[in-house]
Amino acid sequence: MKILVTGAAGFLGSHLCDRLLEQGHEVIGLDNFFTGSKRNVEHLVGNPSFELVRHDVIEPILLEVDRIYNLACPASPVHYQYNPVKTIKTSVMGMINMLGMAKRVRARILQASTSEVYGDPEVHPQREDYWGHVNPIGIRSCYDEGKRVAETLCFDYHRQNAVEIRVMRIFNTYGPRMHPDDGRVVSNFIVQALRGDDITVYGDGSQTRSFCYVDDLLKGMMGLMEHPSLTGPVNIGNPNEFTIRQLAEQVIALTGSKSKIVAKPLPSDDPKQRQPDITLARKELAWEPKVELREGLLKTIAYFEGVLKKA
Ligand code: NAD
Ligand code: UDP
Repeated sequence: MKILVTGAAGFLGSHLCDRLLEQGHEVIGLDNFFTGSKRNVEHLVGNPSFELVRHDVIEPILLEVDRIYNLACPASPVHYQYNPVKTIKTSVMGMINMLGMAKRVRARILQASTSEVYGDPEVHPQREDYWGHVNPIGIRSCYDEGKRVAETLCFDYHRQNAVEIRVMRIFNTYGPRMHPDDGRVVSNFIVQALRGDDITVYGDGSQTRSFCYVDDLLKGMMGLMEHPSLTGPVNIGNPNEFTIRQLAEQVIALTGSKSKIVAKPLPSDDPKQRQPDITLARKELAWEPKVELREGLLKTIAYFEGVLKKA
């Protein structure tokens, strides 16, 4: 098949391009290189089945493809809050442009939505039928509400124009090719530990997240795309839940670092707890994550050791 991946130079997008090419597909990778890096896809340049296009999803584009994976959007709070108006435009106008293309060329489209649509959840763990607890006017809203509108657009194009949609709610995912300055917790802690810098725990570190390794996540993503009928939304993530303090301690133990844990202010609207209920993915996609946190962290630490040596 001919497959478009938006956000192809980013963390998840670049791994997805690798997997799709391994399966023998032709891949067009599109990116505006805001948080993504050419380095993540440089090994694919020269592959006759791969094409890299510099393009911003805010602008319309027409490409003849069979599948669209829409991943373009900064994912780290630091980056999506840098230019919040641009973030919401990326989610909303980018989604309209990609859905418009899907409608024109009759492509199936998968939207990379997020656990952030649940906001600071009052239901735990989160199931897909929970509508969420989101502040519409806070500093995270540009991302959360943008992704919620993007889901709405998917379902309206589906009902109104019969566009084939797949909506995936991704929970915190980590692994090689995250940007060292990405700002998300796993990359921050590993880079800090390897440099011997203080490990910055925001708040008292009792807030929780459930961390999924990138390889597991991609299997769920590609499984959902090729499901014959399931529109979603479907949670894809690892249900093993940890406090942020536990994560910091684990990273220190695995790196053998002498770094100290220091407390920093908790950003506003930071969700207190998050854990996916993956019953639906287990049943419909026969999918569940296999990589334990320790194993995934070791692979990610090895990657960052290489990056920091080169820098
Ligand atoms: P990332 O920041 O590494 O990648 C995002 C990519 O999109 C980057 O290459 C960036 O340059 C590109 N991009 C941003 N705005 C764009 C625009 N207007 N036009 C074209 N390209 C643009 O983030 P990631 O972790 O790879 O996330 C990929 C997708 O998955 C995002 O949509 C994100 O919201 C979603 N997601 C990720 C996670 C996670 O834990 N990694 C969790 C939930 C949702
Ligand atoms: N966090 C932290 N130190 C950091 C970066 C993040 O304690 O250096 C915390 C953050 O406050 C949040 C959790 O780790 O409670 C996950 O943050 P991240 O930005 O990775 O993802 P999100 O909040 O979007 O789930």
